[in-house]
Amino acid sequence: MRLIDLHTHSNCSDGTDPPAELVRRAAAAGVDVLGLTDHDTFAGWDEALAEARRLGVGLVPGAEVSCRLGGVSVHMLAYLPDPDDAELNHTLGRVREGRNARVPLILDRLREHGIDLTPEDVAHQSRAATSLGRPHVADALVARGYARDRRDAFDRWLSEGKSGYVTRYAPDPAEVIGEVRAAGGVCVLAHPRGRSSHRVLTDEVIGDLAEAGLAGLEVDHRDHAPEVRVRLRELAGVLDLVVTGASDHHGAGKTDHELGCFGTAEEEFARLLDRARSAADRSGRKTPAPYLPYVP
Ligand code: AMP
Ligand code: FE
Ligand code: FE
Ligand code: ZN
Repeated sequence: MRLIDLHTHSNCSDGTDPPAELVRRAAAAGVDVLGLTDHDTFAGWDEALAEARRLGVGLVPGAEVSCRLGGVSVHMLAYLPDPDDAELNHTLGRVREGRNARVPLILDRLREHGIDLTPEDVAHQSRAATSLGRPHVADALVARGYARDRRDAFDRWLSEGKSGYVTRYAPDPAEVIGEVRAAGGVCVLAHPRGRSSHRVLTDEVIGDLAEAGLAGLEVDHRDHAPEVRVRLRELAGVLDLVVTGASDHHGAGKTDHELGCFGTAEEEFARLLDRARSAADRSGRKTPAPYLPYVP
């Protein structure tokens, strides 16, 4: 049985390891195929692919696109799109600009609560990141002694509803599915019943996204209780969606998300690659080839 972990983050977004280091750690953890899915950026692809080739570890380049539906954050995994697609890059660029613009606003809010954090404090934590996130602010809070760890910083200030929370631009998930498909890639809905997205991602809404061209559902994820996974698996069957599983590893940034703690079945991975090939053919785009040392 091969270990296929299709959702991980490097320090190009809010993971803590550089892409090559992430690949080395995946190899050490016995992962056969790794999906690199940084938030809203393709920046880590080249480095990760080079290290994957060197070590003979499979690598599927992707991204986790921050979307919003009905005011609630929803994450869309996008695999194997043309990284030079103008429209998709325009959308990701808008998301990243929103991420950058939000940081000074968060710092203003925190200052009102007596927390003295500078943009340089955050920049120091996000040095390697193309895509800036609240976790970098969290790391700055930890470094300045205002929080124990990322989770503590989110619980105190950064989670939605807390005093340091500031919203930002996020696209509609169905539109992102359309853009990724036009760019020759495929979409998998990330942790649909996790944290907040369970509020809006009803069976019916997931059905609508399947209509819009969604290829798969991330079923096996730490944020889903076992009975939730059973229900999502059934739903995937009804809607003919590929079932994936993954760690959502963030390096030292998230506990209980060790590399390979959840995986995707080989036959489901093969179906996902099939759908990606069809999307690539239909789009006529120059899509990246996944690096796969074995034939799935
Ligand atoms: P952002 O992308 O800036 O909106 O921040 C969201 C990211 O923060 C998620 O992708 C997680 O990696 C991280 N995150 C969200 N909630 C928590 C939490 N309670 N503890 C630690 N990390 C969190
Ligand atoms: Fe994250
Ligand atoms: Fe996510
Ligand atoms: Zn993630």
